[in-house]
Order: sequence, then structure tokens, then C-alpha cells
Amino acid sequence: MLGSSIRRPILKPRYPVTPLLLILSSPSGAGKTTLTHRLLRELSNSIAFSVSHTTRSPRPNEVNGQDYHFVTEDEFRAEISAGRFAEWAEVHGNLYGTSKSEIDRAREQGTEVLIFDVDYQGARQIKASYSEAVGVFILPPSMAELRRRLEGRGTETPESVERRFAKARVEIEHYPFFDYLIENDDLQTALAKLSGVVRAELTRRTRQAERAESLLRD
Ligand code: ADP
Ligand code: 5GP
Repeated sequence: MLGSSIRRPILKPRYPVTPLLLILSSPSGAGKTTLTHRLLRELSNSIAFSVSHTTRSPRPNEVNGQDYHFVTEDEFRAEISAGRFAEWAEVHGNLYGTSKSEIDRAREQGTEVLIFDVDYQGARQIKASYSEAVGVFILPPSMAELRRRLEGRGTETPESVERRFAKARVEIEHYPFFDYLIENDDLQTALAKLSGVVRAELTRRTRQAERAESLLRD
């Protein structure tokens, strides 16, 4: 039989591939939570949100375990000591961190896209450990609109609005950490760009090579 003696190397099937680690960052109020929720609804792929730990108090519409794991500072510091965070940082006077278990679980469950909503310090740490992670920075259309959105959300005290707005410039200065910049002026347009980034990243040769290889083995 033609070619029967040719032994092709058996490549281990790589489906599901490791998840696309998608970091979403922005100054507070630019719209990354809104965009994340829309993206989760829009994409039919298996996509998950990495639920962070935080010492911040829950907002009225937030659900423990879904939006964040809300913990005390002692609980948070115990997680740090146990080495359970992939990254953590102090942001706007509160502690925030991503558990390694979020990434492990996504890998075990074959999740295609795992979204991290983290600040630039978190983005830097995730990129340091997972160099293949893709960073997207969301820009507000203007500083005046950023302030309007922060105030309009109605979740912050006037002091918290000031603190978050004052940090916006520092956050924006870190745009070079990120692979993509998306202005969130019109929400639909920004969402289309964001889902375009995800679709393009999932189509990379390195993610799809096994499909071609399996055809060659067929
Ligand atoms: P972030 O998560 O970046 O802090 P949010 O997603 O909470 O920001 O958005 C801040 C506020 O701006 C919310 O009230 C949200 O409804 C509003 N918002 C988000 N995107 C837009 C947009 N493209 N146009 C107008 N308002 C927006
Ligand atoms: P908020 O309090 O508005 O939910 O979030 C405030 C800031 O903390 C945002 O910039 C958000 O991206 C960031 N953040 C949320 N979770 C994490 C996390 O796990 N790690 C880090 N480094 N930042 C986070």
C-alpha cells in the first residue's frame, strides 16, 4: 500500500488549545466592564471572565463570585502569602488580584477565551508570566467624556470619582504595554473592533496549525 511504510510523527491532538488570554484595561469609567459584558454575549465561542478578588466593597448591582470575589484585607493577604495569585496590585486604594486557579480552570475546561479586566500593573504581571497573552487598552473619546461617564455611572462617591479621574492619565500613559488600542466612543463600533481582535487572534496560524496538520495526516 502506497506510503504505508511512511510513519508520520503522531502529533498529540491539541484541541482544545490553551485559552486565548485577553487582557482588557482602561482608565476607570472608559467602558471596559460594559464592553466585556457585551463581548461575553456576542461571541459564540467558549469564553469566560476571570473573576478577580478584591477588598473593595460591592456595588449594588454586583454579585459576589460573579463580578468579583469580595474579601477582607486579611483574606486577601492570606491569598498573597499562599502564592495563589497570578498577579495582584493596589488600585484606587483597594487590593485586586487574579487567582492562578482562574487560569488553571479555563485550561481544564477547554475555554477558548479568558478575559481579564485588570489595570496596567496586572497587565504587566500577566504578560510577564504568560507572554502569549493579548492586551487591549480601551480609550475614552475625551477626558471630559471620561469624567461624565464616571459620574454618570452613579457608583462612586465624589472623592472616589476624583481619585479615579486623577489616575486616568497614569493609566493612559501605560498604553505601550498593550497590543491593541480601541477608542470607546460609539459602543457598537468599539464592540465590533474588540470582537474583531478576538476573532483575528483565534485565527492565528499558531492556534490553527493542528487543523492543517490533521489534514496532512488524513
Ligand atoms: P469601566 O469598567 O471601564 O470602569 P464601565 O463599563 O462601568 O467602565 O462604564 C462607565 C459608564 O459609562 C457606565 O455608566 C456605562 O454605561 C457608560 N458607557 C460605557 N460605554 C459607553 C459608550 N460607548 N457611550 C456612552 N456611555 C458608555
Ligand atoms: P473597579 O473597582 O472599577 O471594578 O476596578 C478598578 C480597577 O481595578 C480597574 O482598572 C480594573 O481593571 C482593576 N482590576 C480589577 N480586577 C483586577 C485584578 O484582578 N488585578 C488588577 N491588577 N487590577 C484589577
